Amino acid sequence: MAQAFFGGVHPNDMKAATNEKAIEQLAPPAEVVIPMSMHFGAPCTPLVKAGDHVKVGQKIGEFRGLGAPIHASVSGTVKAVEPRPYSMGGNMMSVVIENDFKDELSEEVKAPADPDALTVEQMIEMVKDAGIVGMGGATFPTHVKITSGIGKVDTVIINGAECEPDITGDHRTMLERPEEIIGGAKFLAKMFGVDKVVIGVEDNKRNCIDAMNKVIAEQKAPVVVEPLRCRYPQGGEKQLCQAITGRQVPPGGLPADIGCAVFNINTTCAIYRALTQGMPVVKKVVTVSGSGVVEPKNIECPIGTPVSKLFDACGGLKDGTFKLICGGPMMGMAQYTADIPVAKGTGAMLAFAEDEERTVETPQCIRCGKCVSACPMHLEPLFMYQYASKGMVDELNDAHIMDCMECGACSYICPARMHLTHMFKTGKQMVKDKMAADKAAAEAKKKAAEEQKEAVNK
Ligand code: SF4
Ligand code: SF4
Repeated sequence: MAQAFFGGVHPNDMKAATNEKAIEQLAPPAEVVIPMSMHFGAPCTPLVKAGDHVKVGQKIGEFRGLGAPIHASVSGTVKAVEPRPYSMGGNMMSVVIENDFKDELSEEVKAPADPDALTVEQMIEMVKDAGIVGMGGATFPTHVKITSGIGKVDTVIINGAECEPDITGDHRTMLERPEEIIGGAKFLAKMFGVDKVVIGVEDNKRNCIDAMNKVIAEQKAPVVVEPLRCRYPQGGEKQLCQAITGRQVPPGGLPADIGCAVFNINTTCAIYRALTQGMPVVKKVVTVSGSGVVEPKNIECPIGTPVSKLFDACGGLKDGTFKLICGGPMMGMAQYTADIPVAKGTGAMLAFAEDEERTVETPQCIRCGKCVSACPMHLEPLFMYQYASKGMVDELNDAHIMDCMECGACSYICPARMHLTHMFKTGKQMVKDKMAADKAAAEAKKKAAEEQKEAVNK
């Protein structure tokens, strides 16, 4: 079994509610709301307007710079192009489509004649056109990760750890769609020019390991499944690289710096569908679970489906539901409404109704040091908290707060219930603001010096 990474915690995985339930297809929603930002980078520009007819797979949002295009997930009529609430907070420009339930496929969706004959350049172009991003929640554009990694990467890793409690969408995908995963892994091996791909799976998913090993043996695929010890955050890119290769990503670095590239299970399936069927990202598997959900399930639905429809499909929410979280309980974001759409990075929607709230109004650090032992990034959360709460931005930067992956392990382990991770999100923003202000001041100073020099020379 692969060696572990530093730190981490071992929360109750809470996966029994859904890990034995097959992925269900949601009855098509009457309306989808597709946000123009579902990726790392600037939002897309809408390509359609109210009244336009659209088909499944048609491009409706184009990116510039870093990003990925966005496609219609149902066929029908565009009702509006306007800001709507979305899971990252606030409103985002969105394309609202009224479903005509005809499920018409766009002429833009074309399967290649021979997927095995595609060149690396053609494959990357198709991955880009399909709007594929890191579907585990990071939402980094996949074509950029591939392009920037070619020539540097000698180890391609598929992330099947799914270490967050409650979430089982990847588990069910590995069990029900191993051919897509192994097929996607073979394409990745070809793109990176490596002779094998490693799939890392925590050993609480033995049935997934068996299902994928069976397909690997049948296809004689250049893929190996590596069982991993259960420990959160095993699914963090840097932790996974360390567990599988023994190499550590340097502070401020990326997996590519140590020769690794990591892809989520559902991202790998999306690559397979794009390169065999020409199909862009129009659907998502979402785990709907938590003590507030009447009948927890894994549901596949069109991108843009209102989250409230997922809860309806699970029998609704229980009385006393006090918290909604988009994502897992460790890293997800609390939501004030279920009136948000499923996006490419939405892996779970959780609702909580039982005696699970552990918030303390004015917590006091008891200096036990548990947060330091738990931090997988070798940080010192107790000091970072002090710096952030006092606005000590330089000290925060020196404490490497920008390396904090917001995994929540420190908050989970803290006996005083300090609001650590929340404070670090604020602290990171403070550092970013200061860096931007310093850069603007330096540029203004340089410009003033140049103007002065020009004035002297006149
Ligand atoms: S775990 Fe909590 S109480 Fe203990 S040192 Fe860290 S912040 Fe303080
Ligand atoms: S949230 Fe940040 S500081 Fe806390 S354990 Fe995770 S990486 Fe370390």
